[in-house]
Amino acid sequence: MTSPRIEIDLNKVKENASFLVRSLRERGISVTGVTKAVCGNPDVAQAMLDGGVVSLADARINNVARMRAAGITCPISMIRTPLVSEIRDVILFCDTSYNTEMDTIHGLSAAAKDRGVEHKIVLMVEMGDLREGILPEDLNEFAAKVVGIPGITLQGIAANFACMGNLAPTPFNMIELSRFADQAEATCGPYVGLVSGGSSANLAWALGADATRRINNLRLGEAILLGTDPVLGQPIKGLHTDAFVLFAEVIEAKLKPNVFPTGRCVSKHCNLELVSNGGQVNRAVLAIGQQDTDPSTLGLPLGFEFVGTTSDHTVVDTAKSTLPVGSEIKMGLNYSALIRAMSASDVTKNVLGKKSRNDMTKGQATQPFLKLV
Ligand SMILES: *Cc1c(COP(=O)(O)O)cnc(C)c1O
Repeated sequence: MTSPRIEIDLNKVKENASFLVRSLRERGISVTGVTKAVCGNPDVAQAMLDGGVVSLADARINNVARMRAAGITCPISMIRTPLVSEIRDVILFCDTSYNTEMDTIHGLSAAAKDRGVEHKIVLMVEMGDLREGILPEDLNEFAAKVVGIPGITLQGIAANFACMGNLAPTPFNMIELSRFADQAEATCGPYVGLVSGGSSANLAWALGADATRRINNLRLGEAILLGTDPVLGQPIKGLHTDAFVLFAEVIEAKLKPNVFPTGRCVSKHCNLELVSNGGQVNRAVLAIGQQDTDPSTLGLPLGFEFVGTTSDHTVVDTAKSTLPVGSEIKMGLNYSALIRAMSASDVTKNVLGKKSRNDMTKGQATQPFLKLV
């Protein structure tokens, strides 16, 4: 079979989505499935929908276009502030976009009027992640302006945590966001239906004991796909962590001197140097590298150890195992390894457990192993 390849178990994706949808429904929170880490792969998007997410969201318009082309008709949100140069496509493919700039919203308004549609806007509020967002003190006035723009409907407000900064939201942050929704409504009327509290980083809060107040939506990618909490890097109880697995082929396997990197400093310059401890180890070279994934973070088989990587090679110590050349090793992925593997053209994507849906299999082969690039 082709290597490197990623195997995607759609049933596990669906079960993760379903578990989160059911757990959060009890707390009055709906789930939007975030597809950017899988480049808008339509089979994965469909598995999220089969698990019960109310809508999808992606950060790139090409990913949204790919889902639309595959026949996905549910509401899709653009969660990255739209590029001015892509406004027409945002109106064409997305029901909602998350926004922080008035000029962009005016552009969306003009394009929506041209097409004779209403476009929904969610205002992203900056609450400490230091990425995009309207400052809380500017929110009410901003929202009041948006309400008056033709072709545009204010759908709600949102915040983002633990994307650039690695800080999980506190219960206090969530109380604040609820208060911002109350205040914006006091200024501009009952237009804040959606209060989207954040991402997978919010799950510890959302599934905890605190009152959820007005937070009624989360946008979840990593938790559905990988079953992990992005802040702690830990598995979330009840979720599959192996819906995505990566296979790479062994292209060299030899007993080699056990060298390990060590720092050596001469005056102010430090260099890494390989130093031997005199022993020998089983070492394998895998045909996968930085162009394909984030090799240093891969989950290797028990006892194996990562040694180093270049653009096309990854070297591992294989402990007692002597792997035959041509064999494959199976590895787990974290978020950065996943996004790179999903967007790498040399990594084959094999989708397992695909249901044959007429609108999704049109023009595509219907084998259980489907190459999607
Ligand atoms: C990526 C992203 C998400 C989803 O984050 P996960 O950690 O994958 O759950 C949610 N909201 C925004 C704005 C994003 O960019």
